[in-house]
Amino acid sequence: MFQHIEAFAGDPILTLNEQFAADPRADKINLSIGVYLNDEQRIPLMGAVAAAEVRLAQSINPHPYLPMAGLPAYREQSRRLVFGEGQGERIATIQTLGGSGALKVGADFLKAWFPQARVWVSDPTWDNHKGIFGGAGFEVGTYPYYSPATHGVAFDAMLAALRALPAGDIIVLHACCHNPTGADLSQQQWRELALVVQERDLLPFFDIAYQGFGEGIVEDAFAIRYFAEQNIPLLVASSYSKNFAIYGERCGALHVTGKDADEAQKIFGQLQSAVRKNYSSPPAYGGRVIATVLEDQQLRAQWEAELTAMRVRMKQIRSELYAQLKAQLPGGDFEYLRIQQGMFSFTGLPVAQIRKLRDAHGVYLIESGRVCLAALSSAGVAPVARAVVQVMT
Ligand code: PMP
Repeated sequence: MFQHIEAFAGDPILTLNEQFAADPRADKINLSIGVYLNDEQRIPLMGAVAAAEVRLAQSINPHPYLPMAGLPAYREQSRRLVFGEGQGERIATIQTLGGSGALKVGADFLKAWFPQARVWVSDPTWDNHKGIFGGAGFEVGTYPYYSPATHGVAFDAMLAALRALPAGDIIVLHACCHNPTGADLSQQQWRELALVVQERDLLPFFDIAYQGFGEGIVEDAFAIRYFAEQNIPLLVASSYSKNFAIYGERCGALHVTGKDADEAQKIFGQLQSAVRKNYSSPPAYGGRVIATVLEDQQLRAQWEAELTAMRVRMKQIRSELYAQLKAQLPGGDFEYLRIQQGMFSFTGLPVAQIRKLRDAHGVYLIESGRVCLAALSSAGVAPVARAVVQVMT
């Protein structure tokens, strides 16, 4: 029966991680992963999360299903975190299984109601964008995004490509901390992009998986809030995996803005229908933890302070690595490390040098050249800088 089934090629990042685990060198450094590690090289347990868990554990309760849309308090808090105060009545929000679940339910919703649309993602993007939208039945294309020459956004090329799209097409946008490049649009560029989206009647689907990792909770949501203020209809997939370090509990949210409360209600109903056909209702535990933190003034302040510390640490690692590389190779262009945002940067190192980093120095990067700076400890900066300089010279 199953003879025709082909082997799963695997995920190149996971395969590399297996290779890293099997590497006997004691001084090996893994910068290929997509999680935030603290300076002790562990996924942190945030104090606010632990405190909420202790609180929840004090009353042991039965485990009923959550509603299809998830916990009301979680939905309310999630909407406010992304959109700020106000406009709530015209936004349909549901709790989802991480950012991935939000993208999947959003993609199914869109396929049901915009069957002719095509989906456009940045070149490059998080690989699973193609998997999820393709899996929902969409034809997925790319728009230019990254300029290796400037290590920044190829904004003119991006706008030109989006201007040429037919009305009603869907564009996936990283709201902040672009994965994999770390290159983000400036506020001025977001404003210009909003004009093109309005002129061309495009439907933006924002992915915000790193809110608070770039410049701050409010700053990182700038594009979404600005587009919403311009009354541009939009979708948002938000994730708590990184900013609550709650990866395995699968916490995220999907938001869709309607023109008014009536439209939002209809959308809300259809989102529930999409949930029902996928997994019926979301898991409860992580949702309760997050709602507890966000609803409680003290826990929320603690979470924000811890998130700030994570952001500051990533920026410090970026500038320490920059300083050491610049000192050892003054002619090298490493400014991008300080300008790019979030966990990742695109090093632009050719594949041969990335292999040499791994084979000769035990420093693991994925072959696209993406480096996860959030996985680098302060003790790792000097050996990584030395290794990079050696493979470059
Ligand atoms: N979008 C982007 C851009 C991501 O990088 C990720 C995961 N790292 C996700 C979505 C998925 O998030 P989650 O793990 O919450 O499903």
